[in-house]
Amino acid sequence: MNRIAVLTSGGDAPGMNAAIRAVVRKGHHHGLEVIGVRRGYTGLIQGDFTPMDLGSVGDIIHRGGTVLYSDRSSLFKTPEGQARAVENLKNEGIDGLVVIGGDGSFRGAQKLTQQGFPTVGVPGTIDNDIAGTDYTIGFDTAVNTVIKCIDQIRDTATSHERTYIVEVMGRDAGDIALWSGLADGAESILIPEAPHNLDDIVQRLERGNRRGKRHSIIIVAEGVGSGVDIGRQIKDKTGMETRVTVLGHIQRGGSPTAFDRVLASRMGAKAVDLLIDGEKDQMVAICKNAIVGVDFDKAFSMKHQPDMAMYDLAGILAI
Ligand code: ADP
Repeated sequence: MNRIAVLTSGGDAPGMNAAIRAVVRKGHHHGLEVIGVRRGYTGLIQGDFTPMDLGSVGDIIHRGGTVLYSDRSSLFKTPEGQARAVENLKNEGIDGLVVIGGDGSFRGAQKLTQQGFPTVGVPGTIDNDIAGTDYTIGFDTAVNTVIKCIDQIRDTATSHERTYIVEVMGRDAGDIALWSGLADGAESILIPEAPHNLDDIVQRLERGNRRGKRHSIIIVAEGVGSGVDIGRQIKDKTGMETRVTVLGHIQRGGSPTAFDRVLASRMGAKAVDLLIDGEKDQMVAICKNAIVGVDFDKAFSMKHQPDMAMYDLAGILAI
């Protein structure tokens, strides 16, 4: 292994830059040349390559987004697109590829390995929705962004004695809602992995009102549906004033937390180790604080599930 490449793909996440930095610096540490691919699989198909020396990743560990840019490519989903990508990689003399991205990006990475090009994945997504790893890069930062926003909503909620509904991201996963809800003492947390009953939520609100609660916060994961709809339903049932905030893309930005920077540094370095050891068709994962390689097939066969004991606890503590 002499030359490796790195790209970021799919939805961006805070900490991706720290992961790129780790791949570049760890690669150089082992005497490898490192090539950056701009705009994910689009850049792979177009041959948009740039050499990355040690200085190229200076001053980025604290920055959100990705200096290599990210993209989604429908052409890459076709065998022709994948063949062109492999041809470009081989023409550049590249021996291995690190793909930093989410589940979709890993499906693409596996296709490259199946075409004979060694590729490993590093999980970067705020949603924490990748099975086989306890955490993904960007999740912790997103949760911290959400709780900062909810703290501010809480201030105004107290002044106006209203019920606030906050819709958060997570695609089909409820992790962001669950963690931010527990961290912020939300009255109810609605996640796609657990059924919800509007009457229970209303009962909770009314119980809170009876014991003098001045406001309530309800967190809705986007995978459950629209926060606006939930807000309307609660208002119809209770007559209470509700206000809905959809946090949206602010959750994807911002300077990564220390946790995400450390996780990204450890994971990016591990990806280089895996390629050097001749591993492929694997993603890097954190399992019980150990950084390990997990076969893509194994990860794809598992279903991501948030910590349901935490969900139960949130319900108990918010009573
Ligand atoms: P994420 O990686 O954040 O889940 P996407 O699901 O949009 O984001 O996937 C990113 C890119 O990965 C897609 O635009 C496509 O180029 C590639 N990709 C996704 N699924 C596949 C697949 N089944 N086969 C090949 N490439 C795929």
